[in-house]
Parts: sequence; C-alpha cells; structure tokens
Amino acid sequence: MSKLVIATRNKGKAKEFGALLAGLGLEIYSLLDFPELILPPETGRTFEENAILKASSVRDQTGLVALGDDSGLEVEVLNGAPGIFSSRFAGEPPDDERNNQKLLALLARVPEDKRKARFRCVLALAGDEGKMYTAEGRLEGYIALEPRGSYGFGYDPLFYLPEYGRTLAELGPEVKDKISHRARAVQNLLPALKEVFGID
Ligand code: IMP
Repeated sequence: MSKLVIATRNKGKAKEFGALLAGLGLEIYSLLDFPELILPPETGRTFEENAILKASSVRDQTGLVALGDDSGLEVEVLNGAPGIFSSRFAGEPPDDERNNQKLLALLARVPEDKRKARFRCVLALAGDEGKMYTAEGRLEGYIALEPRGSYGFGYDPLFYLPEYGRTLAELGPEVKDKISHRARAVQNLLPALKEVFGID
C-alpha cells in the first residue's frame, strides 16, 4: 500500500489530516511513528517556505512521500501579522490565550468593519525524485470584539464568520472541517496526491 508521512508531531493535526485524507486508500503515518526524526527549525519567510522545509526534510529522512504544512492568521489592518509568527505572537512558549489578548489589544480602536482577517494554510507534498507540489487554502472572516465559544484552538474564539453569525469556536468541528483553510488546502492538493500515488 502507498505510504504518506505527515510532517507533524501534533496529535490533533495528524488526526485532522488523517480524516481529511481518508478515502485515498493511503497508509498514513506521522512523526509520532518516527520519534528519532528531527524536524528543521521553521526558518522560512513564508508559509510556503516552511511547509517545503518540513516536507523535504521528512522525505529525505524517511525515504517516503511526505506532507508538510504551515498555517496562520493574517489581519488586514496589521499588514498581515501575525502571519508565520501566529503560534508565538505573544512570545515563547506559544500560548493561545495570550495571543488572543495581544490581538484584541492591538485592535482595541479598530471598528468592526475594519477587522478583516484570514486563515491561510499551505501544504507541500514531497514526492520521489525530488518532486515538490504545493497547495493553499484560505478562510476569510473578521476578528471579533471579544472571544466567544469553546471549540477548536488558537484564534478560533476570535475568528468571526459573518455568513454564520458565529465564531469558529462556536461553530464546532463539523462545520470547521468542511470550510477550514486546512480542508480547502487538502482539496486543492488532491490532483498532486493522485498523481504522486497513481490514483485515478
Ligand atoms: P502551525 O501551522 O501549527 O504552525 O500553526 C500556526 C498557528 O496559527 C497556530 O498555533 C494558531 O495560533 C494559528 N492557527 C492555524 N490554524 C488555525 C485554526 O484553524 N484555528 C485557530 N488558529 C489557527
């Protein structure tokens, strides 16, 4: 059976990708199955560079097809910040609660209609013979005036979707997994996955 390694040690993420990729008939691994493997530091300047760094490193170390990802939040009035620094926006170690507080403080004087934001996820698929494919998914919304909801992680309680009248943390996984930047990125990567694994 065809093997794919997800370049993450995050159990939640590995599970989420496993669910999104189910149905392709692949044998899916994550770095939890390769405890000795060392991921390179995320030194890229873009989501794409970081996703490629992870995918190529894991492909080189395992000899298997590898999927790397990088994602984050871009806020329009902050010129795209926190971007690639989303997880450590309020410093190390990463802390979702402090990140959200920092974001709210920075936007304290910004009115509701100017609080546009988007989640982005970029995936990189490292196939054999050094082949690299990338795909991106986006989710557009607004930063709420205060956190609401308890599902999800990261900036979900602040990410407001006008078409639902709720934050992502109020909507829960069933809706999120259909519309999220990660789900859309996987969808956009499907042609590459099918090519690499010879699936019709
Ligand atoms: P990474 O892809 O694991 O590097 O995630 C970067 C950071 O972006 C996370 O730690 C979160 O702060 C933020 N982020 C990425 N995707 C989501 C999401 O779906 N919901 C909320 N925050 C997210």
